[in-house]
Amino acid sequence: MSLSPSDSSTRQVLIVGAGLTGLTTAFRLKCAGIDVGILETADRVGGQIHSFHRDGFIYESGPNTGALSHPEVAELFDALAPACPLVTARPEAKSRWIWKGDRFHALPSSLFAGLTTPLFSLVDKLRLLGEPFRRRGTDPDETVGALTVRRLGRSFLRNAVDPFLSGVYAGDPMRLVTRFALPRLYALEQTYGSFIRGALKKARQPKTERERRATKQVFAAEGGMERLIETLTDRVGRDRIVLEAKHPRLTPPTTPEGLWRIDFDHAGRPATLTAQHVVTTCPAYALPELLPFADVEAVQAIASLTYAPIVQAAVCLDDTAGRDFAAFGGLVPSAETQPVLGILFPSSCFAGRAPQDGAVFSVFMGGVHHPELLDLGDEAVADIIDDVLHRMLRLPAEIKPVRLDIFRHRRAIPQYEASTERRLAAVAALEAAHPGLTLAGNLRDGIGMADRIRQGTAVAQRLVETLV
Ligand SMILES: Cc1cc2nc3c(=O)[nH]c(=O)nc-3n(C[C@H](O)[C@H](O)[C@H](O)COP(=O)(O)OP(=O)(O)OC[C@H]3O[C@@H](n4cnc5c(N)ncnc54)[C@H](O)[C@@H]3O)c2cc1C
Repeated sequence: MSLSPSDSSTRQVLIVGAGLTGLTTAFRLKCAGIDVGILETADRVGGQIHSFHRDGFIYESGPNTGALSHPEVAELFDALAPACPLVTARPEAKSRWIWKGDRFHALPSSLFAGLTTPLFSLVDKLRLLGEPFRRRGTDPDETVGALTVRRLGRSFLRNAVDPFLSGVYAGDPMRLVTRFALPRLYALEQTYGSFIRGALKKARQPKTERERRATKQVFAAEGGMERLIETLTDRVGRDRIVLEAKHPRLTPPTTPEGLWRIDFDHAGRPATLTAQHVVTTCPAYALPELLPFADVEAVQAIASLTYAPIVQAAVCLDDTAGRDFAAFGGLVPSAETQPVLGILFPSSCFAGRAPQDGAVFSVFMGGVHHPELLDLGDEAVADIIDDVLHRMLRLPAEIKPVRLDIFRHRRAIPQYEASTERRLAAVAALEAAHPGLTLAGNLRDGIGMADRIRQGTAVAQRLVETLV
């Protein structure tokens, strides 16, 4: 049975949004024999994931790499084999650089490097010896910044945690709440009383075979992240996805065994679909229009989620003057007042991203500290890139990009700040008040691709238990 916007066919599950979350959910449901459809407002699938193949370079406008941090990621790639090979980053990508003063320094990865690095103060290095004995935090809403200062010291916040959070959240450590933004770090302190003791104990704990599939490795799909999207789309079935479904509005069933109705505009005409269950995976700000029936205060508590803006520039070089940039990339602490948040080196992580002797860099700007950079014109961004290449990366002046593509994401990364508890309570209240409705997507359960895959898998599992 095909899903056509012009008929009123009914699906067991209708998913709103064809990004990674929606497609993972749909794929897992389809594998379990559930009749699933997807409604997508854009003219393409993939949401924030978009890869480009130009002039021998492969680059991304959104995520370049993910972390294999949940077993569901490796399991998804297994299920899609051989159509979508998983690639893990070369070993040199373990090296991360942090900007301090007038250059990048490698983030220490050994005890000796930790003692000699200029990134952390002598006082904080000595204080680290006392970390296992420091008292456990008691404020559940403590920010990542406050937690870092309390346990590790200011220089660790300034030169490790702040740039790390710039890289992941484009956010502010003094606003991101640890238990929501970095739940594993929060659990480490709460469970073991110390990061160091917790990390040592966890390393000694036996792991199941499945748990061992979650690692710290950096992954991508061979040929770019969009290959994952394309493969998921093929497996779900393109005829199951309605693109350019404009202004979708949901209406709940009027009887317990009744159907959800979704009205939308398609090719200039009104269209309607029905489903037993609806899963939303669109961003929080899309919900007020999508859920016109719902309690306004609850929807507002979700829709008020802040998204950090990001400008991402893909910089393609055909010559790097012999420099190999053997690292994952370089991050910039916000206190350094540089024009960028960081620079990733995807062609150092993965083979085939640039022609021989060339490189692709992904340069990030903006974030919560500098939303105004979203409004810079292309020339101003090109000037920043020129400065990045020659002053920050110290490439010879004659080296210029052979391609420069600028992508502006006005609402890129959700910020799990103090409002999160209220938002999650509103999600739970709406789901309880409206059986058959699941509110998923990056408004909860994590912002990275691994989190999205894990959430999509979990949502599908719960629905299969209900529907089969
Ligand atoms: C610049 C950038 C860099 C990133 N870097 C990384 C990284 O390095 N590593 C990492 O792990 N993650 C990274 N991420 C995050 C990662 O891209 C996301 O976690 C993931 O792609 C989100 O998938 P999603 O399906 O939840 O949301 P989305 O990709 O946003 O998909 C939601 C979909 O819903 C659609 N939609 C919206 N409104 C409606 C509506 N009313 N009706 C129907 N459809 C609707 C949208 O068009 C979209 O297709 C990055 C994100 C950005 C923007």
